[in-house]
Amino acid sequence: MDETAIRRALTRIAHEILEKNKGIEGCVLVGIRTRGVFLAKRIAERLEEIEGTKVPWGEIDVTSYRDDRSAASAKEPLGQPLGDQTIQGKKVILCDDVLYTGRTIRAAMDALMDCGRPESIQLAVLADRGHRELPIRADYIGKNVPTSKAEEIEVLLQEFDGVDQVRIIQQ
Ligand code: 5GP
Ligand code: MG
Repeated sequence: MDETAIRRALTRIAHEILEKNKGIEGCVLVGIRTRGVFLAKRIAERLEEIEGTKVPWGEIDVTSYRDDRSAASAKEPLGQPLGDQTIQGKKVILCDDVLYTGRTIRAAMDALMDCGRPESIQLAVLADRGHRELPIRADYIGKNVPTSKAEEIEVLLQEFDGVDQVRIIQQ
């Protein structure tokens, strides 16, 4: 995916979010660090362009909630994803760059629940590369990219990498 393809995919996702939620009332976007945060911000900007209303967006770092961290390492206290706004009762749309085994999303849901009780949690990803190990699926997908386990998806975003690009690379 080049810059244009990524832009179109995010615009489509914004429209799908509006369609599924019948508007953006009560919706908030939470990006998973690192690149998911830029995606959350971009989708929030698209939603504002389309609807003329600001959509709160924030970020979450799920490192200390991952199941591959030893139980001995305590969960670090997590700041509220939206700063001074609560996620309590909100429709939280989690955003990430790549969905793979689903473990990051499981950890993110765990972390969110520690911050409040959202009305619902939805998931938007730029690329779904398959190989799920948990019963998790995305509600909004930029592109389905079937990969072998030896392949990886390279996601480059302007804000962090200076260019917008998604491509498959061989390990
Ligand atoms: P999972 O937890 O679903 O196995 O992996 C998803 C997380 O790992 C995401 O936060 C994503 O950033 C990262 N990830 C997993 N596979 C890939 C990949 O092929 N490319 C990139 N760029 N990130 C990946
Ligand atoms: Mg990540």
